Amino acid sequence: MLNTKQFQRNLKVLGYYRGFVDGLNGVVTKEGIKAFQGVYSLEADGIYGPKTDAKLREVAETLQRALNEYLKGKPESLSSPREKPLYEKLVIDGIIGNKTCGAIEFFQKYTGITPVGVAGAATLQALGIGKLISFKQSKYFKQDEFRCRCKGAFCKGFPEPVSEILLTVLERAREHYSDRLIITSGLRCEKQNRRDGGILRSRHLIGRAADCYIPSVADKTLCQYFKKQPEVRYTYTGFGAVHVDVY
Ligand SMILES: [Zn+2]
Ligand SMILES: [Zn+2]
Repeated sequence: MLNTKQFQRNLKVLGYYRGFVDGLNGVVTKEGIKAFQGVYSLEADGIYGPKTDAKLREVAETLQRALNEYLKGKPESLSSPREKPLYEKLVIDGIIGNKTCGAIEFFQKYTGITPVGVAGAATLQALGIGKLISFKQSKYFKQDEFRCRCKGAFCKGFPEPVSEILLTVLERAREHYSDRLIITSGLRCEKQNRRDGGILRSRHLIGRAADCYIPSVADKTLCQYFKKQPEVRYTYTGFGAVHVDVY
């Protein structure tokens, strides 16, 4: 778990906390925790527990990955000596420190967002990592499309919930290509995974992988697209669909 100073800083940079980064878990800090919990559908009790910790780190890691992706493509604009350190790839640790803040500022400067020390909604949107969507908010997908294909033989269809990160990535791809995105395999229980020849610790088991295709898009093209998304951990094709999994 992050210590108090670390989570205060994360919350502050993500725009949920307005107090000092002082390591004191007081009323203002609790308010910040509550605000974050509310946005990410966690129990808003103001207590920094394991679930809140996991979600906050996940959000911070996604931000770091997106910044790395952006910085990778911009070496030529990093010419002045002051900006040179920003060449450095960020370590994906979910802890927002000076380097991450520097990268945020750099990104904001070059995309015309006023840098105020916070990576708010506009910044996250511009980085392509706006708030995660749920099935309730999804325009294109129903949870049923991710159901385990064992047809009730070994499980009830959803041994684990479908990750909102996965859903968000798929929703974005669907939007990007304006064509149906068909899921051929979403969740899998252990037995179905073995049947499908899935690897031992397949991310299909934990709701963080899907095999899919878009009728009007070549699998290779879709795979290339997925590769560029900051939330994507691994993607491959060549089996009649595209496998994509997320962190
Ligand atoms: Zn099953
Ligand atoms: Zn797969």
